Amino acid sequence: MRTRARRAGAGEDSDWILDGSKMWITNGSIADVAIVWAQTEGGIRGFVVPTDSPGFSASVVKHKMSLRASITSELVLEGVRLPASAVLGDVTGLKGPLSCLNEARYGIVWGSLGAARDSLGTALSYAGDREQFGKPISGFQMTQNKLAQMSVELTNGMLLALHLGRRKDLGTLRPEQVSMGKLNNVTKSIEIAREARTILGANGISLEYPVIRHMNNLESVLTYEGTPEMHTLVVGQALTGIAAFR
Ligand SMILES: Cc1cc2nc3c(=O)[nH]c(=O)nc-3n(C[C@H](O)[C@H](O)[C@H](O)COP(=O)(O)OP(=O)(O)OC[C@H]3O[C@@H](n4cnc5c(N)ncnc54)[C@H](O)[C@@H]3O)c2cc1C
Repeated sequence: MRTRARRAGAGEDSDWILDGSKMWITNGSIADVAIVWAQTEGGIRGFVVPTDSPGFSASVVKHKMSLRASITSELVLEGVRLPASAVLGDVTGLKGPLSCLNEARYGIVWGSLGAARDSLGTALSYAGDREQFGKPISGFQMTQNKLAQMSVELTNGMLLALHLGRRKDLGTLRPEQVSMGKLNNVTKSIEIAREARTILGANGISLEYPVIRHMNNLESVLTYEGTPEMHTLVVGQALTGIAAFR
């Protein structure tokens, strides 16, 4: 985290000055406010930054082949001056951003499965309509194997998400459990979408069907809110007690 915030004066009520940049920020070019985490002398703090502040600029990241329906931006902060009231609550350190990430990651545990469910549904319907050698391709054992495996993984993912949700309701959900859910459900959802794509044959690469869109969008979901490697390391640390991040 290279973005830095420093006090403009000596007092607790003095303004903050922010300098730095953030890549790959969803909706950064259309948002009215940006939540920016920055290094300060006292550790990481969060700031509410109105995007019309002098020194703030945002440019759209072009050439995306994934999540094309949402705008992704680079934010640049050059001497952005904010009042003392712009800093977020009492949270200092990585705990602030990680507590936000934990919520977003939990949402992805479910959201990724929506793409998988639609991919399976599309493949099932297509395989029932498409005929080869005088019968629907859903009647061939190899297609049924694909559909059955996809269904098993989707059900596993749903049960994992449901279990995590129940722990969340009880207030006992731990971050490494969310990591396990994000890691498993996104990875399996991509596999399901890719398998569904094969069942559609050439139509699998057409935007007339939703499957290749889900596949490409899941590539972003795989990376953001923690890559598979990061979540693997979170689970690894929880199991062994040894951090292998660096
Ligand atoms: C469409 C989209 C929207 C996004 N929206 C937002 C947003 O709104 N806000 C926001 O803050 N971010 C957002 N992101 C950014 C996203 O969170 C980051 O891209 C992600 O955290 C990965 O960081 P990176 O791209 O710098 O990859 P890197 O950190 O460079 O990683 C590249 C590869 O190296 C691996 N790697 C890195 N370090 C290690 C290590 N120590 N051990 C093992 N492997 C390692 C990674 O797992 C990965 O495979 C968005 C990204 C995308 C694609």
